[in-house]
Amino acid sequence: MPMIPSRYNITIQDYPDTGGMLIFNTLSGSLFELEPDYRQSLEALQNGNKVNEADMARLAEMAEEGYVVEDEETENNLVIHNIRAAAYGSSPIVKATVVTTMACNLACKYCFESGMEKSPTMDRETAQMVFDQIVKRAQDPSVKAIDIDYYGGEPLLNMDIIRFLSEKFQEWCEENKKSYGFTMTTNGTLLTPDVVAELKPLGFQSARITIDGVKEIHDARRPFRSGKGSSYDTIMKNLKDTIDMLPITLVNVCSEESMKQLPELLDELEERQILRKLAAFQPGIEQAYLDNQGKVCGSMDCALTKESAENFLLAIHELFRRDLPPRGELLQGANCSVTAAQGLLIFNADGKMYKCPVLMDRPEYTVGHVNEEMLNKHHYECVTKEIWKQCLDDTDCPYVPTCGAGAGCRFVALANSGDLWGDGCSRKFHDHYVPEVMKLEHMKKFGET
Ligand code: SF4
Ligand code: SF4
Repeated sequence: MPMIPSRYNITIQDYPDTGGMLIFNTLSGSLFELEPDYRQSLEALQNGNKVNEADMARLAEMAEEGYVVEDEETENNLVIHNIRAAAYGSSPIVKATVVTTMACNLACKYCFESGMEKSPTMDRETAQMVFDQIVKRAQDPSVKAIDIDYYGGEPLLNMDIIRFLSEKFQEWCEENKKSYGFTMTTNGTLLTPDVVAELKPLGFQSARITIDGVKEIHDARRPFRSGKGSSYDTIMKNLKDTIDMLPITLVNVCSEESMKQLPELLDELEERQILRKLAAFQPGIEQAYLDNQGKVCGSMDCALTKESAENFLLAIHELFRRDLPPRGELLQGANCSVTAAQGLLIFNADGKMYKCPVLMDRPEYTVGHVNEEMLNKHHYECVTKEIWKQCLDDTDCPYVPTCGAGAGCRFVALANSGDLWGDGCSRKFHDHYVPEVMKLEHMKKFGET
């Protein structure tokens, strides 16, 4: 069988030991430490040198991990298959984000909502149509569960819609032998024990609270809209009071400013006996938004730049140092719901539907309305554009299998060029982030330093 090295290998020479090599394949997801003789066999193949029988045996072993493949066409066909399966494949879980209101009790400096003129709040009539749209998708016998994330604005400012929808979903799921659960992305200021106690029987499974760093930074960036009190202190109290009631993930936005004081924040969470009770402490990338004129506001850290990779890595290193490695596969990459046929749908409070939270309230990126039967032409354009072909065919980029459905982030493209289908490349981020995380994952796997 002919053999070539995979296009999707990322390697770190002489790591962890001189002569060896750490190798990760973005297509197979396999991370390994290659002994010097395996490295030499792979390099002989790479350089077109003669390979002997022992080399062939090692190369055959490496083929099982995807580091060596039959030929370029076969490998690329697998990439195409995986991207299309992710875009068109069905899932046993219908996932949706429901924005109960765009109103918020905080006045965050960078919030995309601040670029909007109005803050719609969902009424029951709209919620009924949201319900109808979601159960229409869940009727397929292959669907086993409905999973909603309530989002905002601040979703808890419209508890009525969370109750209304949850009761209806629970009833429908019971009748149809499916399960219903919901999560919530909240600023945490209203997440009191009473709220958690009321919502848990309605299917509340976990919450995600975002903070911007230590008290000084957080309060400066996320003050109460009323101007009174400390949102940081309120969140810390609520966290302390609810942490034993519900899995809570605390997302810390990794700005350059917040990273300098991350150890201080973690020390404080440790002292308050919150840190180790969290479902996870996650470094998060700050979100930019486009205002009504299409101007980029807030931080462009979300553009996945080298700088955002550096901030993100600082946080990950600190968490590893404290024996709190972030959950999940750090090397897995994220899919982009904009280009997926069956991906996440976001129902805005006014009934408009979107495919990405940061594109919300931009009418040109609406994919439908809850009162319409069909999704509109923009949805079909997003799915059938297959923009990843450019990255696959016109570049030698090794990150296609893990880079937002093979073509970076559409919002970054929009922010960079004003064109949703423009250049959304995040290669600088990957080049910086992936090798460092390979070392950390290797350390986690094999306990080496
Ligand atoms: S456009 Fe970017 S932010 Fe939006 S879903 Fe895709 S990858 Fe995520
Ligand atoms: S967008 Fe950039 S980093 Fe992502 S797959 Fe395409 S070329 Fe690679």
